[in-house]
Amino acid sequence: MGSAADFPKIDFTSNFQNIINNALSSTPETRQAVDPSTEELLYHVPLSKQADVDKAVSVAKAAFPAWKALSYDERAGYLGRYADAIEANVSGLQELLMKEAGKPVSNAAGELQFAIAHVRETAKLRIEDDLIEDTEERRATVRYLPMGVGVGIIPWNYPVLLGLGKLGPAVLTGNTFIWKPSPFSPYTALKLGEIAAQIFPPGVVQVLSGDESLGPLFTAHPGVAKISFTGSSATGKKVMQACASTLKRLTLELGGNDASIIYDDVDVAQVVQKIGPMAFMHSGQICMDIKRLYVHEKIYDEFLAAFVQVVKSFKVGGGGDPEAFLGPVQNRMQFEKVKDLYSEIGKQKWQVATGGEPVACDGKKGFFLPPTIIDNPPDDSRIVVEEPFGPIMPVLKWSDEDEVVRRANNTNMGLGASVWSNDIEKAERLARRLEAGSTWVNSHFELSPYVPFGGHKWSGVGMDWGIVGLKGWCNTQASWVRKKF
Ligand code: NAD
Repeated sequence: MGSAADFPKIDFTSNFQNIINNALSSTPETRQAVDPSTEELLYHVPLSKQADVDKAVSVAKAAFPAWKALSYDERAGYLGRYADAIEANVSGLQELLMKEAGKPVSNAAGELQFAIAHVRETAKLRIEDDLIEDTEERRATVRYLPMGVGVGIIPWNYPVLLGLGKLGPAVLTGNTFIWKPSPFSPYTALKLGEIAAQIFPPGVVQVLSGDESLGPLFTAHPGVAKISFTGSSATGKKVMQACASTLKRLTLELGGNDASIIYDDVDVAQVVQKIGPMAFMHSGQICMDIKRLYVHEKIYDEFLAAFVQVVKSFKVGGGGDPEAFLGPVQNRMQFEKVKDLYSEIGKQKWQVATGGEPVACDGKKGFFLPPTIIDNPPDDSRIVVEEPFGPIMPVLKWSDEDEVVRRANNTNMGLGASVWSNDIEKAERLARRLEAGSTWVNSHFELSPYVPFGGHKWSGVGMDWGIVGLKGWCNTQASWVRKKF
């Protein structure tokens, strides 16, 4: 493993530039993102336009033949050194991540550690050819070949993990890569690009920052072979439409409205300790946070009271507060969207179990909202139907298995779902009936670089991570050999 001394020093407080062909690349115009904990403007970053996109695609295309000609082991070696170089710079990256994403220390540190491990573990994966038939007459093999230039379009909630979680599989399989961070959180991505420039051959990894007009320049570009997009379902549909004109390959990781079903045989005190963070982690701004909690009517009151106590214990604070567990909403646009949902509380006469309308937060700097639980609202209320993507969620009562499965599945979303019970077989049986890309029993957050992650229905197309994710970065080729004329 590398130490800080093995790698040139990165300046994490200035000189944020695009990385194209391993060189820092500026743009005539710049823009700034906002620290959501303080609402102060952060550093200037490039405002990329068509010419920057063309240059990035062109160098990535030029680098592709030599990069794909390397063996898996050689490309994995680069990824291993990249993970070491990131690790050597982890404290600077952590500070930056706290500022740009509004993450408390624990969340920023956790994201970076998981992301570094993700790069290291991904490097161990290999796709083998599938030998389908091998007779005296002929042989049929299925191969998985890299596509060319891949672009990762990334949201603001996990800017490091989601970016590296695409970069690793893309370059391991022999593609070259362009990272497009969210305009709300471009800083760690640009510095991770600067670190990549010290490790990879020129043209293998590019990072370009810009405003909301930048993503469409990539989805329209004829030189891009594959788009891997993570973001909202609404934008995902636009991406799919834009990719159609050039028949680009695509993976879409989209929104969620994850249901969690609690049976009446659980140890309430134990389970609420686990459910609390899984519902409110990063102030509800995780695609697979628990967003609809269905609790069996026999334990409903006891469970709700205990859950409220856990959620009340979460300290809300900015990136600089070492005791904070929940940070602010990441940007003003999202803040206004979530506040609009809070404003429904009075209008719809929802019962508030804890939290409530954010009167106390108004007037203070930072996009903070009180963690809020709505007690058994109607199934058709906005808080149940929509993905809030903020620290507010419903707890709902159920009594019949068929009915709760129907309610859990009654949504266009299908990212994750979980079932909690001491009877594992019963819970697994119920989990099989849930329409979601991941199901968990007695958990909701298990993730691994070895296991694919993605959504059903409007929560996604294709999957990231694991061998399934690697294959998503490849064209499948059927290879036939006739042994006899
Ligand atoms: P978003 O859809 O607004 O933006 C995502 C990215 O797409 C950004 O980089 C943005 O600049 C870019 N973009 C915007 N318009 C584009 C267009 N027309 N063409 C190409 N790119 C475009 O999403 P967000 O607000 O940044 O993120 C929150 C959403 O992401 C939530 O719905 C959340 O559930 C989802 N999400 C999903 C996963 C997952 O793995 N399924 C993970 C994290 C977040």
